[in-house]
Amino acid sequence: MNDNSLPPCPLCHCTKLSTFPYFSSHAGRIDTVRCSECLCEASTAAWKQRKPAPPAAWLLVEALRAEEGHSITLFCDNPDFNMGPDSAVEACGDYTNWSDRRFEGDNLTAALMAAYLAKTGGAVSPEIAEALKRESAHG
Ligand SMILES: [Zn+2]
Repeated sequence: MNDNSLPPCPLCHCTKLSTFPYFSSHAGRIDTVRCSECLCEASTAAWKQRKPAPPAAWLLVEALRAEEGHSITLFCDNPDFNMGPDSAVEACGDYTNWSDRRFEGDNLTAALMAAYLAKTGGAVSPEIAEALKRESAHG
């Protein structure tokens, strides 16, 4: 078995992978890959199909510009300015009455999340919830 052909873990980008056979009572032997960092696992065939998931920030950007006329502006981070949050975005859409509204957070994802929650009224899509969970688990 050639382990070198396996792509790194799509969740944590770890390349320390172990492979082992898993014996299923239904399917018999399944060659399985496990990531030694986040302990996710998949069959060797499925592992090779896995794609890196987009970061939460990007999913939020896509959600905030998905509708016609909506826009989102990302500002430069401001880590030296200790009087306020590090990151800010400006959003415009029907939920801001079509005027630029500023949202802030401790990082870009948090600022985008504030705008996203204003847009959705507090709802979070499963895809974004999953990405946020993944990123908090992996630092
Ligand atoms: Zn991993």
